[in-house]
Amino acid sequence: MSQPTQGLAGLDAESLGMILDSIRGFAEENLPDDRLLELDRTHEFPEETVRGMCTELGIQLLFIPEAYGGMGAGAFDVYRVCELLASIDLAVATGVFATFLGSDPILFGGTEEQKARWLGAIAERGLLMAYAASEPEAGSDLGALRTTATPVVENGAVTRYRINGAKMWITNGGYADLYSVLVLAPGGPTWFILEKGADGLDHGVPEDKHGIRASNTAALSFADVFIPAGDLVGLVEGQGLVQAQKVFGYTRLMVAAFGLGAGWAALERAARYSTTRIQGGGPLSQKQGFTHKLLVPHACALESGRAFIEETAMRLDAGEGTLNTEGAIAKYLSTEAGNAAADAAIQALGGYGYVREYMVEKIRRDVRITTIYEGTSEIMEMTIARDRWQIHLKTRGRHYHDEAVALDALHAASPTVGADVAAAASRSLAELLERARVRRLTRHQHVLFRLGELIARVEGAGALARRAADALAGKLPEKGGGRLAPEGLAAASRVNARDTAARLAGEGMRWAIGAGGVGPAERAAFEQALGLAALHEAQAGLIEDMDRVAGALYQSVEA
Ligand SMILES: Cc1cc2nc3c(=O)[nH]c(=O)nc-3n(C[C@H](O)[C@H](O)[C@H](O)COP(=O)(O)OP(=O)(O)OC[C@H]3O[C@@H](n4cnc5c(N)ncnc54)[C@H](O)[C@@H]3O)c2cc1C
Repeated sequence: MSQPTQGLAGLDAESLGMILDSIRGFAEENLPDDRLLELDRTHEFPEETVRGMCTELGIQLLFIPEAYGGMGAGAFDVYRVCELLASIDLAVATGVFATFLGSDPILFGGTEEQKARWLGAIAERGLLMAYAASEPEAGSDLGALRTTATPVVENGAVTRYRINGAKMWITNGGYADLYSVLVLAPGGPTWFILEKGADGLDHGVPEDKHGIRASNTAALSFADVFIPAGDLVGLVEGQGLVQAQKVFGYTRLMVAAFGLGAGWAALERAARYSTTRIQGGGPLSQKQGFTHKLLVPHACALESGRAFIEETAMRLDAGEGTLNTEGAIAKYLSTEAGNAAADAAIQALGGYGYVREYMVEKIRRDVRITTIYEGTSEIMEMTIARDRWQIHLKTRGRHYHDEAVALDALHAASPTVGADVAAAASRSLAELLERARVRRLTRHQHVLFRLGELIARVEGAGALARRAADALAGKLPEKGGGRLAPEGLAAASRVNARDTAARLAGEGMRWAIGAGGVGPAERAAFEQALGLAALHEAQAGLIEDMDRVAGALYQSVEA
């Protein structure tokens, strides 16, 4: 039995299923492996195919509300679609994503008239968009942007703006029909919508990239580009960064789904390969030294990312707000896991992994971008740490203790999902944060960022334990994804919770001591406060659970 997602924004399960099937069918016909490898080799943007996804499949209709001619899909639907697209090809997924992203300033900041005009055109004509925020000198720090919009006053009113400057790394930069451009107006950063072919707008040659080579990434230049004042998104200057902030929860979730899709695509190839590759007298799939290093930890980490994505998507669809920090956690967990999984997949295929033909080499290069664009992993660590630090202060150190209490309750109701271990890790985190507060350890940026990582892991462990409990109770969302059967997912949750506990025990101690927060005479007491003995004790049974995850993984790839 599965849980309907009624009451939430978005499509019904049947419609989503039909869309996913039609994307699979389209990909089988248009994007077989040999074509993908050729596009990668020649670094050619498959314009017709990406446009075909709009004109034939109507993929752009997903993110456009029904009022403007779209289907009004929710965050959960978009996560499933992004995961699937990324499992096919991350370059094509990125081309599609740029239109999703490009239209967001309109969706979240446009006037009714602007939404009707531009979203209506995207829905009807399947226009390709580009989202032009980054600049040569402004990447992570968008506040440093230098492209300017100077008002042109005619008869006492601002009728137009003159845009000058440059953008860098713009996906679809050479092909878009419409550009969302973030520029500095006198009132502050402001979005404008610019049409292809505007006088003074030019684009550079496609960047010759490490991965996603079939996506088009180009610089843009603006030399006295005139744009009507009515094309300023929302008609009020200075709202640009606020409008961009409004969608981070949602857009980071999409990139999180990219990490998930690409990571699982690599992992599945590795798992399948290992069932037929005979070494040392038997298939690799039967060798723990292979499976427990190269497959199992990655399946667990990816499913922790998925659990966090699904929780966040449902909360977004329930209208809980922008959820920027949750989007950051989802992105951080899933894209780091996707990278690690793809890297391990190369190793799993040995020499075959290192050549292009077997695809995992390409997936590894492609997925690398997901920890860079839409906010780097380090910026995610900072975002997560800063936000949760505030919560720690506001709750006087109670927050992660309260989370632990909730996880203990989950353990009482569902004792096989590792919620007790996740609770121990959460308690340990609360103590670590408190030590960091008392000894002012976050004055070291590195410590702040490492706390960001540990926070994400602890929250991911909690999310996976909840998801595993739902799976055992037959209560997973009807529209949900996932690879492992409920018992396998429970084992994955136990492994993941233990991994989180081990990180707290190792990294928590390391940075607290390393930053001068625990003197030799205080060590024993601090170890007790962190619950070090319990974190170590929690490792009992780990190998057996890894065996179970391996079993569930092979069952899923054979299914
Ligand atoms: C293929 C590709 C496609 C892209 N598509 C788009 C697009 O469509 N639209 C768009 O607007 N942009 C796009 N980008 C740009 C992308 O979002 C930026 O590259 C990204 O935000 C990082 O900015 P940066 O490259 O300037 O790196 P920087 O910000 O200079 O970062 C360099 C390194 O420093 C770290 N760092 C940065 N700030 C801090 C800090 N305060 N403290 C500690 N460490 C820090 C970063 O984590 C990173 O490791 C794309 C990039 C690529 C490569």
